[in-house]
Amino acid sequence: MNVVIHILTHTIQPKSIAFLKALHDDHILDFYFQSMNQTPTNNNLTNLSEHGLGARDYFHFQGFMSLPTAQSNFKEIRILFKSDRIQSHSLPILNNSIPQTNALLVLMSTKKSNDMKKDNSTIRMCCQPKQTPRKFEKNVSAERQGFILSTDKKWVNGTHLTYCFLGGPESQRKVVRKAFQIWKNTGIGLTFQELSTTDEALVRISFKQNAGSWSYVGRDILQIPLNEATMNFGWPLDTDSYGMTTALHEIGHTLGFQHEHQNPFSGIVWDRNAVIAAFKKAPNHWSIPQIEHNILNAIPQDQVKGSAWDWKSIMHYAFDKGLILKPAEFHRNGLNPPGVLSQLDIQGVKSFCPESRLEEKQMRAEQSRAIPAKSGKQFDFVFEAPATAKYTFATSGTFDTVMVVSEKNGPSLEYLSGDDDSGTDHNATITLPLVKGRTYIANIRVMYAPKGSKGSICVKRV
Ligand SMILES: [Zn+2]
Repeated sequence: MNVVIHILTHTIQPKSIAFLKALHDDHILDFYFQSMNQTPTNNNLTNLSEHGLGARDYFHFQGFMSLPTAQSNFKEIRILFKSDRIQSHSLPILNNSIPQTNALLVLMSTKKSNDMKKDNSTIRMCCQPKQTPRKFEKNVSAERQGFILSTDKKWVNGTHLTYCFLGGPESQRKVVRKAFQIWKNTGIGLTFQELSTTDEALVRISFKQNAGSWSYVGRDILQIPLNEATMNFGWPLDTDSYGMTTALHEIGHTLGFQHEHQNPFSGIVWDRNAVIAAFKKAPNHWSIPQIEHNILNAIPQDQVKGSAWDWKSIMHYAFDKGLILKPAEFHRNGLNPPGVLSQLDIQGVKSFCPESRLEEKQMRAEQSRAIPAKSGKQFDFVFEAPATAKYTFATSGTFDTVMVVSEKNGPSLEYLSGDDDSGTDHNATITLPLVKGRTYIANIRVMYAPKGSKGSICVKRV
């Protein structure tokens, strides 16, 4: 049975309401709400105004939940907020009415909004490690560099991202697993799998307290030695809903997202001294280079696709009033992203890793297949090994490409190897032992194809 519930709720601590649980008897269901871009109806506004709240004081959330047994077994859904700032509510199920009605709840606090506003300066923020900027040879044109940099950190669609935990309590691991699932549920073509050992895990997650929370960005992870973490959580994830916000944010980095408040198209003008003063002190205790790296320095324009600024993004920090000079509304009120995936986060991840992809083209040994000259596009090829032997997958032509070879393992893919020839005169080449009768996929992302150029792929027995 599927239930859809709409909730209108006070916005003051939207992070507090992103992570909910629905309880019935001995069933405990994790229950996740996504903020909606819809404006509530007049009826709802009437309800709110009775409590002295205006239209700007609340958000609209929509939640989806599947109940595990027949609906007649349920008498109520209890929605528990992991925050004492917002009352918990029960939703009666009478005559099976909930599934049909998209029940509406108006959840109120008895306090006025300003009294409830939590000071963002008490929140610890993600602090990203510094990565050396990519350097190109002199003969790589500015246009070519731009195309390469815009997709440089993104995973090839279809990549099977394995992850493992380096320690950490089970209650916190659970939040991270759930966050991976939430990203997956947006409908992306990447897949995630937890491994129990670190040997083969691409993403390695530690819980070193007081080492800050951070994650390397996208394919930068491949540069990190296998015995080191690629993501860390430096504060407990299981004490309030900010834990889920943190997990979604760090996984966002792992998927290839950078900080949205550093979007060069944001138009944000910082009060530099105020920002430095706010982040130098407790609880963050950052140095000026860390503050510049994580907040004040805009990301180079050529690393950003599109020009939209999304302050609701999960990749955007919350800022107290006074830190942002412009836009003026955020100077006056501060900026408080909802702490959940925004519509543009979902659109963004699906634009480079959509769930449904172009049809895979069959390849035979020694037979070359053309790769279309389309910068930024991905093409997928299937190869069934005719014999157990070593084979080489090789691209040719003047394209810049990233190639990933995986083995088909039921519905999912197992990552075997990858090669990136971007910005060089080489062509992506991977040699691997393959097993007779098994199916292999070569995913090729064309990062840059100069005008009039041609490229192809061929697989040959070594
Ligand atoms: Zn971050």
